[in-house]
Amino acid sequence: MTKEATKQVTNEATNQETKEAAKQAGAKVYGNLIGGQWLPALGGKTLLNVNPADHTDVVGEFPASDASDVALAVAAAKKAFSSWRLVPAPKRAEILYRAGQLLAERKEQYAREMTREMGKVLAETRGDVQEAIDEAYYVAGEGRRLFGQTTPSELANKFAMSVRMPVGVIGMIAPWNFPMAIPSWKLFPALVAGNTCIIKPAEDTPLSTYNLVQTLMDAGLPEGVVNIVSGYGPEAGAPLVEHPEVRAISFTGSSAVGSLVAQRAAATFKPVSLEMGGKNAMIVMDDANLELALEGALWGAFGTTGQRCTATSRILLHRAIAAEFSAKLVERARALRVGNGLEAGVEVGPQVNAQQIATSAEYVAIALAEGAKLLTGGKALTEGVFSKGTFFAPTIFGGVTPTMRIAREEVFGPVVALIEFETIEEAIEIANSIDYGLSTSLYSRDVNRAFAAMRDLEAGITYINAPTIGAEVHLPFGGVKKTGNGHREGLGALDFYTTWKSVYVDFSDRLQRAQIDNAE
Ligand code: NAD
Repeated sequence: MTKEATKQVTNEATNQETKEAAKQAGAKVYGNLIGGQWLPALGGKTLLNVNPADHTDVVGEFPASDASDVALAVAAAKKAFSSWRLVPAPKRAEILYRAGQLLAERKEQYAREMTREMGKVLAETRGDVQEAIDEAYYVAGEGRRLFGQTTPSELANKFAMSVRMPVGVIGMIAPWNFPMAIPSWKLFPALVAGNTCIIKPAEDTPLSTYNLVQTLMDAGLPEGVVNIVSGYGPEAGAPLVEHPEVRAISFTGSSAVGSLVAQRAAATFKPVSLEMGGKNAMIVMDDANLELALEGALWGAFGTTGQRCTATSRILLHRAIAAEFSAKLVERARALRVGNGLEAGVEVGPQVNAQQIATSAEYVAIALAEGAKLLTGGKALTEGVFSKGTFFAPTIFGGVTPTMRIAREEVFGPVVALIEFETIEEAIEIANSIDYGLSTSLYSRDVNRAFAAMRDLEAGITYINAPTIGAEVHLPFGGVKKTGNGHREGLGALDFYTTWKSVYVDFSDRLQRAQIDNAE
């Protein structure tokens, strides 16, 4: 059974157990947003959004859509495109400015709702909403900057320019770990460029996408410009990828599903932007500020419960400081307070679902079997306050070698591998030796080492004296190798959401043949 299928079976089992309880507790029922109308899935199926810190707390019941719902949404988006593309870009941008203001007003409410559906601690969900606010203001500025070029023609009395055109109806598929920020990275640049959109949120975290899109509607977005189709990947995501009227797909998620998406999109020649997994290395040199590096390691590895594509999942330690650093890191990891992210003082929330817990446990077993040394954690937390949720202890493996699976494969949980090295060249070689290439970091006070790392680390992002997490919206975001297929979110996203048109205006009043009449 594929990971996606297992996840669905798990969710459906949870559904049956809790659906009755949800009804009794009055959990809110949500529809798909199609052409401005909130509609149940045509097939009548639903999925439950439950709090990973407390499975008895049902956040809401959402449509489990299929191809028929996708078809309706595509028709609505296509209809809306005919008028939205003609709205002047600065006017489209004004809606994003207003949405940014409304998000700022609603930040606390949306952050609390996000912690309830996704689990990460409140400080981080506030950051997630803030990222959407930042993206709104950043992209709104692009409404007056959708620059093309003018260039001299090779012929007399002829004018040449290139202009950016919208692509059309765009399909978007999102993961659960940044349930508002990632949809905003996709929706806002697509909208300012004049596209219409259908977004399929992750099945674990639809509410934050609903909150984001509701905000856009409240800010004045016309009906049908953004549509939401919620549901599972194979039933609701795949038809979006395959629909012939969807002109492009923006996907963020695992490399396994991304590969499927790219193959299916190829049948209709759709451009696909893929943002996928990571196995991100932090290198700590012998001259580093160790206290700073420790703080960074703790935040990079266990922030968001290790469930960031940029999470610090490998820490490469110079042999001279490895023993001291490992001992201190273990001590601090043990002291981290795990719990419900809504409670003050909690530093590490739950994992998002039982499937993620199973993956963390599976990699603990793999690492042990390969000879890595478990320094702390290594198991799900199930007693007392943890019994209602999906919690995993912050976990550190020492004695990891670069060829072990725990050093090469993405876990997407609070599990970090410590690897020792002797020289910076060796560290960079280890960092580069894996299939992923998203984020990297170097802790050193030596400027020569810093510049060598910036140049030689194979990744879309390199931090110096900061952990592998902490991207800002106005820089390019994405990676190389198995992490991405060359596109970027943030700076560069407009290149995906627009298509170039070259325009020639001949005002000579006679036929002028390029490459022929001027070829003397
Ligand atoms: P996932 O691949 O399981 O799911 C991502 C989305 O794809 C979900 O909405 C899911 O329903 C959908 N999907 C699943 N099967 C599909 C199919 N056959 N056709 C179409 N859509 C389908 O990933 P996840 O568990 O939600 O998220 C975790 C992964 O996302 C990690 O690998 C993480 O590194 C990655 N991620 C990457 C970035 C980035 O920008 N590089 C950011 C966040 C997360």
